[in-house]
Amino acid sequence: MNFLLVDDSAIIRKMVKIALKKVFKGEILEAGDGLEALNVLSMNTVDLIICDINMPNMDGMEFLSRVKATDEFKEIPVIMLSTEQGEEDVKEAKERGASDYLKKPVKPEKLIKTVYEVIKKAY
Ligand SMILES: [Mg+2]
Repeated sequence: MNFLLVDDSAIIRKMVKIALKKVFKGEILEAGDGLEALNVLSMNTVDLIICDINMPNMDGMEFLSRVKATDEFKEIPVIMLSTEQGEEDVKEAKERGASDYLKKPVKPEKLIKTVYEVIKKAY
């Protein structure tokens, strides 16, 4: 299982990485914004994406739309992980094709549970 973590906060990426590594084998790739993430996607096999919303250069919503509009990537499930609390953001993420939406700060157990559920549905 290869993961791609997209967040402009290195601390958040590290926390998520630690949680995933305890449970899953495989590569955990990282990107600091949507543009970088598209680049990583084009060069690697990724099975699941966990993505922040507020980021420089290309934000998470735009990145999500690009992923879902690309035949090569559109089947990859995307879990949004953001501080945005609004119902509107959750709704927008779902409409753009997100598999699930988690609010920061997220407990490792909750993150793992959601990842499992999303994988089970997608594969
Ligand atoms: Mg951010």
